[in-house]
Amino acid sequence: MTNEHIHEGLVEIEIPKFDKVSSEAPVFYNPVMELNRDLSILALQEFQRELNKEIYLCDAFGGSGIRGIRYAKEISNVAKVVINDISSLAVNFQKTNIKLNGLDNVETSQNDASLMLREMRGEFDIVDIDPFGTPSYFTDSAAYSLKSDGMLCISATDTSALCGTYKAPCIRKYNAKPFKSEYCHENGVRILIGFVAMTFAKYKKYIEVKFSHSTEHYMRAYIKIHRGSKATDESLENMGFIVHCKKCLHRKTINGLAPHIPEVCPVCGEKLITAGPLWLGDIQNKSYIQGMIDSTNEKKLNKKDEALKLLNLCLNEADMPATFYDLHLICKKLRISAVRLAKVVDALTNEGFKVSRTHYEPTAIKTDASLDKIEEIIVKLNPES
Ligand code: SAH
Repeated sequence: MTNEHIHEGLVEIEIPKFDKVSSEAPVFYNPVMELNRDLSILALQEFQRELNKEIYLCDAFGGSGIRGIRYAKEISNVAKVVINDISSLAVNFQKTNIKLNGLDNVETSQNDASLMLREMRGEFDIVDIDPFGTPSYFTDSAAYSLKSDGMLCISATDTSALCGTYKAPCIRKYNAKPFKSEYCHENGVRILIGFVAMTFAKYKKYIEVKFSHSTEHYMRAYIKIHRGSKATDESLENMGFIVHCKKCLHRKTINGLAPHIPEVCPVCGEKLITAGPLWLGDIQNKSYIQGMIDSTNEKKLNKKDEALKLLNLCLNEADMPATFYDLHLICKKLRISAVRLAKVVDALTNEGFKVSRTHYEPTAIKTDASLDKIEEIIVKLNPES
């Protein structure tokens, strides 16, 4: 087996040479996740700044070790990082790579992630769950392990389940029904976060989402954990459902775990589709994301421009209602040619509505204006009307 060296952020990593990125590779390294790791550096640094103390981190699915090694090298005030993997080959590479980067505050562990998290209950300030596919099998152990004021970083690559292409696996893994729609990626993030909220609630722990995104083939969320039974009960009021009409694009959020869910669209009478239970609370935190943006200049990021673009979109999305409207889809429904997004944003802003773009979809807007209002503005802006 020949090895190769790669450079990312401030670190150098040795990995076995392998033709294609795959879970079949002897040790997994995915260059597409560079942006993900860059964003993690910014998010975890912001969390350290908030906690204002030395932090203890766990990279539970270490692979080559690149993530944990970058955390140790590039985040300030890190007391220790534990990098874990079930594979002995991966752990051997981690050991080589820790030495290669001259780090003395990084330890390795070879164990099933759930067992390791349970054995080390209460030790970590940050637990990073970045497996192949679904994180759902490991969420309960993270919930058991994480202490109050800790942070869970969680990735999911089973987006076809979360977005509703495959409904049955989503129900099995996340105990929630998805549906396909223009905003199914946002729904997927909300299903993932809702599953985290319900899992942590068992342990009287509740969640505060700092930052989340859906990019390429994965979803990722950074979630602060708090403790308290009453506050957990109150926090679960953020769980609920979204009903959607595929014909006229009407949608509505309904809070509660057993609410009354209407079956037909109140606008056009079509049968509604339902997603949930999912998290209807905040999934972006403005001041946290602003903190991440402010520290981009302090860090050596491989994907700085992409990171900034995404963070600025997410910053604008914070405080906006759930779901978004794809303008192309509305124009198609109205049977008129597409209008410029910037013009719709201006018109809605001038009428006093909140409006933003969204990182999920370049042709869509988030707004507190009604669908009727958006359609009225689009028709007015259309040169053919
Ligand atoms: N986080 C890494 C990628 C990890 S890939 C990065 O940023 O590059 C997923 C890794 O999880 C693989 O190395 C695999 O060996 C390991 N793994 C699979 N099942 C596991 C389990 N149950 N516990 C711990 N590690 C596991």
